[in-house]
Amino acid sequence: MSISQHHEPHRRGIIFILSAPSGAGKTTLWRRALTAIDELDLSVSLTTRGPRGGEVEGVDHHFVSEEEFKARWARGELAEHARHFGASYGTPRGPLDRAVREGRDILLEIDISGAKQIREKYPRDAVGIFVLPPSFEDLEERLRHRGTEDEPGIQRRLIRAREEAREWTAYDFLIINAEVDRSIAQLQAIVLAERLRAARQREGFAPWKS
Ligand code: 5GP
Repeated sequence: MSISQHHEPHRRGIIFILSAPSGAGKTTLWRRALTAIDELDLSVSLTTRGPRGGEVEGVDHHFVSEEEFKARWARGELAEHARHFGASYGTPRGPLDRAVREGRDILLEIDISGAKQIREKYPRDAVGIFVLPPSFEDLEERLRHRGTEDEPGIQRRLIRAREEAREWTAYDFLIINAEVDRSIAQLQAIVLAERLRAARQREGFAPWKS
């Protein structure tokens, strides 16, 4: 099922934030979400880490130097920023403001501290969605199966994931990602319902006006 929803200038655009502990299957989920849900753009983050194999500038991230990152933050061009594994990450502000203004929706795949900053800056327009694996054991298995970390790396991520998992209470929605198709259907339901909220319609919008 694909949700067909066109650019809706009569309402404000929505900033959907997806956060999860690493290993929760968040990447698969947002990639699928972008094809399953119409009219949803992805925010492209700035990062100071180098591109990994196959990552494309401007598509996966904007890859910049620390100096450039700092300059952009100082100029107020970022809506939030955070440090992660020794690198800086930030969300460009322009596309968010444009999305809200033009009634388009945008998806942010960012960490918990970034999500908090966005929700503080856009209290009316941001919707936080937290994704958790069904159990801690499940998360451990996913991390090992992925094979991208050595044992100390896995242990570090597990400790961190346990701490991060507690943050779900600060979000608007919680998805327990046991089965991807089901999680996508839940995500679609959230997006659709949020688009229909009466409070998102612009002041002066009169649906019955001929
Ligand atoms: P990765 O290096 O794997 O792309 O991302 C590492 C972590 O940084 C992930 O937890 C991801 O959610 C987070 N992240 C990616 N982009 C941003 C961003 O723009 N802002 C914040 N706060 N976190 C981000």
